[in-house]
Amino acid sequence: HAETWKQLKEHLPQWVTESKAHTSDGQVASYIPELANAPADVLGICIMDADGNIAVAGESDFRFTLQSISKVFTLILALMDNGEEVVFSKVGMEPTGDDFNSMLKLELVEPGIPFNPLINAGAIAISSLIAGSGPREQVERILHFFRDIANNPSLKINQSVFQSESDTAHRNRSLAYFLKDNGVLDSEVDDVLHVYFSHCSVEVNCTDLARLALVLAHNGVDPIRNQRLIPRRFVQIAKTFMFTCGMYNASGEFAMNVGLPAKSGVSGSILTMVPGQYGIGLVGPALNRKGNSTAGVHLLGTLSQEFDWSLF
Ligand code: GLN
Repeated sequence: HAETWKQLKEHLPQWVTESKAHTSDGQVASYIPELANAPADVLGICIMDADGNIAVAGESDFRFTLQSISKVFTLILALMDNGEEVVFSKVGMEPTGDDFNSMLKLELVEPGIPFNPLINAGAIAISSLIAGSGPREQVERILHFFRDIANNPSLKINQSVFQSESDTAHRNRSLAYFLKDNGVLDSEVDDVLHVYFSHCSVEVNCTDLARLALVLAHNGVDPIRNQRLIPRRFVQIAKTFMFTCGMYNASGEFAMNVGLPAKSGVSGSILTMVPGQYGIGLVGPALNRKGNSTAGVHLLGTLSQEFDWSLF
């Protein structure tokens, strides 16, 4: 570890500079109008070890919303609230080759059940499983859970992003109505979407992401506080989904080139980890056609090659 860490600290700024060139290959997401305001040329990263030491480079203080990364943690909370059997009666375990917001394959796994909890349809189904007396309490519980794992009590929802997504989410609305019609949602469409848009709009920085990832890297134990926060089995489920579906329909390519469990969001964020060792959070808002950060994917490719991080 000591040698790797030294190399990391020394070379990270240069690797970030090299990958930053790839920000011009992509475009900032604009289907949520508020996200279109993000600067396209940003790239920042934080890597955290089990003692809480951090290696940072680029615009690592840049703030952004979790977007689809939140789906990993709502999945875990839904598993903790309901157990595996209930959760997997509402979502499948299979990757899709389609875009993250696709409607094409909703009916294939089993009638009306989304393929997996990381595509939008699946994540919306998961949002309805979070325990609570109504959307307000569900969101409070989600926030509490995110804050606990990130060890950051000040995490909150970016209201502008929330409102912007809520105003323009015609496709997510139609997905939710379709799920409702198929009997997948117990709650009302507007309520479940409120919960879903809220957890996608939680604002973080790269250090928060790295800390969230660190707990997954250590199978549910926060190694810094030496405290178990998540049962091991549920982290195993989450990481398996991250590996097979976390980068949407680029998950196979990412597995080939980087070989680590990861989850991306349309804010240009990526959460990944070196199992048993590091938590990694990065942001680069310019996205490729599959919705993943162009510079971020490049940077993780470099790191994985340099340190032989692929699990295979
Ligand atoms: N909130 C976003 C949406 O539903 C999340 C998608 C993403 O990050 N890929 O469209």
